[in-house]
Amino acid sequence: MEIKFVSKEIDNSFRCKKSYNNTEAPCDLCKAPVLNSDKKSHEENYCPKKKISCQYCNKSLKREKKEKHLASKCPKVKEKCIFNGCNVEKTREEMKLHKESFSEHISLINEMSNSLEETKKKQESHSEQINSLYRKSDFLEKMLKNNQFEMEKFINRFSPLEEKPVCNLTILNSFNKS
Ligand SMILES: [Zn+2]
Ligand SMILES: [Zn+2]
Ligand SMILES: [Zn+2]
Repeated sequence: MEIKFVSKEIDNSFRCKKSYNNTEAPCDLCKAPVLNSDKKSHEENYCPKKKISCQYCNKSLKREKKEKHLASKCPKVKEKCIFNGCNVEKTREEMKLHKESFSEHISLINEMSNSLEETKKKQESHSEQINSLYRKSDFLEKMLKNNQFEMEKFINRFSPLEEKPVCNLTILNSFNKS
């Protein structure tokens, strides 16, 4: 009789543990329903309200705030200088100093204004070339008009003969001889 009683007790505790693991309960931190068996892993890996520390600056913050912290706040995350043409990459806290120290960008500004000056000069010489091309094409147009005019004069001179090709030929021949 005694032995039977003991074995029944063990059986009950096993069943209790199994049903405890399969029961959902709200997470203490985020209140989401979580299986008791997943409680530990939920807190360690997923719970948005669980406090964690930033791997860069060690600041303690809730998991849900981490993305924003890294994207715009963490002082140890590196970012590129926003100044156009400056390729400096520094941590956010170093970048503050870099941005404030105007001298680091002065040489860049000088370089830029120099190359701007060069571009302007190139543009000027290009527009001069274009102007001279315009002048040439004007000249050619005038020549062409002049030639057309001469041609018309020539045609008008011999227009009465146009209908007599034989005569035209004699004219051509006389041209060839002279
Ligand atoms: Zn949670
Ligand atoms: Zn951080
Ligand atoms: Zn810079």
